[in-house]
Amino acid sequence: MNKILNYINGSYQEPITGEWLDNYNPSTGEVYSKISKSTSEDVENAYQAAKNAFPAWSNTTIEERSRILLKIADLIEANLDRLAQAEANDNGKPMSLAKAVDIPRASSNFRFFGNAITQFASEAHESVGLNTMNFTLRSPIGVVGCISPWNLPLYLFTWKVAPAIAAGNCVVAKPSEVTPMTAYLLGEILTEAGLPKGVLNIVHGTGPEAGQAIVAHPNIKAISFTGGTKTGEHIARTAAPMFKKLSLELGGKNPNLIFADCDYEKMLAVTVTSSFANQGQICLCGSRIYVEESISEKFKKDFVAKVSALKIGNPFDGDTTIGALVSKEHLEKVESYIEIAKNEGGKVLFGGERVLVKGFENGYYLQPTVIEVKDNNCRVQQEEVFGPVVTIMTFKTEEEALHLANDVKYGLSATVWTNNLNRTMRLSKQLEAGIVWINTWLNRDLRTPFGGMKDSGVGREGGFEALRFFTEPKNVCISYTDLPNNS
Ligand code: NDP
Repeated sequence: MNKILNYINGSYQEPITGEWLDNYNPSTGEVYSKISKSTSEDVENAYQAAKNAFPAWSNTTIEERSRILLKIADLIEANLDRLAQAEANDNGKPMSLAKAVDIPRASSNFRFFGNAITQFASEAHESVGLNTMNFTLRSPIGVVGCISPWNLPLYLFTWKVAPAIAAGNCVVAKPSEVTPMTAYLLGEILTEAGLPKGVLNIVHGTGPEAGQAIVAHPNIKAISFTGGTKTGEHIARTAAPMFKKLSLELGGKNPNLIFADCDYEKMLAVTVTSSFANQGQICLCGSRIYVEESISEKFKKDFVAKVSALKIGNPFDGDTTIGALVSKEHLEKVESYIEIAKNEGGKVLFGGERVLVKGFENGYYLQPTVIEVKDNNCRVQQEEVFGPVVTIMTFKTEEEALHLANDVKYGLSATVWTNNLNRTMRLSKQLEAGIVWINTWLNRDLRTPFGGMKDSGVGREGGFEALRFFTEPKNVCISYTDLPNNS
């Protein structure tokens, strides 16, 4: 059986304890590989490798760092099929999605930050009249930690490690133990691209053990984390007494506001995707639909018709749009929310049942589920389900829609469908979300700041924001004197 080894100091290594975790293929429900069950000792080895690599890497020219990142991007592209297949096996997502989105985006992350670092500059402030000049020196932090979740495995892993190394840091990184395969395969690519040993170390294992060891390590000075809000809270508690720099990208419960004056057909097609792409397991999915009352009956009918036509199947069928959920535990969690919603008065308009896929009978398949709710305070409206479950509520006025949208603890993203320009301006300002999409969804320009408000996170990544996070700014203030009058 394949073993998922740690990648430390430029080579693959078994975990020190010799213990392994089972890795499941969600589309079949079978264990298909073994994962290193790393402990704080493996993390320490990774840290030492990173520490030793730091002096040389942080003094490597920007051009050379950029060249290596671009080479990694090229190699990810060259391995598109292999990586997409690995992602589908490990995560349960349709291979077509991994091929169109996950793996190209992983490559883009390296390409983007390989280019961005060549344009990254810092500020100078002249104190006019005081004869002082300030400039900001931005240095890499040292050894940093990157921890990523299972929903977009290589996509989110590279979203963190690429800017971290571009900025001159060395990294100890941990992908989710639920989906470690593509991060494991990345090790080969890093070696082939000529990334110096120890610059990027990848440790596998559980969150509470390997992840916690990274966060608690006294000399890992910054943590970039994407995952659940509860885990983020725990990480913040662990890191706070050590005053670590933290970037937390956490959960979401994103509203999708549909006004009667929208471009209806475009809205309908995109809303199906924003509800169920990646089995609804994207932090940016629009899991709460609010639709203006005058079009609500038509919308419900048309939406259910489109959702019922989605093809649930094994990830390798070319026409599958909904694959398997990531794990048995997650499937059960999502099902429990469907029950909670029903018990709280929700009406299931479509779905809610497991699906048996021929030849893949033990896989974790669930119908896309549409639930009509009346009360914004019920749990399915307030808590993140993170699966193929979307709710629908109606509203009468823009004020009411805004109130319902903001009335949750999360603030990651929001989508608005309207052709009223004044309304788009009002709502973009008033919605409590780090990203507002108007008449579109998941449209990403990597230069833009990415992150959430409220319980959806702290800080922003993306573009120069990520490079700012991964560098330490220092103000240098120089006082100078004028030439003497008689000179
Ligand atoms: P988790 O919070 O369970 O895990 C995220 C990562 O943290 C995993 O690598 C996990 O390891 C690790 N981890 C768990 N416990 C600890 C700990 N005590 N210390 C350090 N690391 C730890 O999230 P999920 O993987 O379940 O991902 C789903 C969540 O991620 C959802 O809430 C979703 O909204 C959020 N998310 C947010 C995004 C954003 O950009 N805001 C984007 C994508 C997802 P392991 O899995 O091995 O236990």
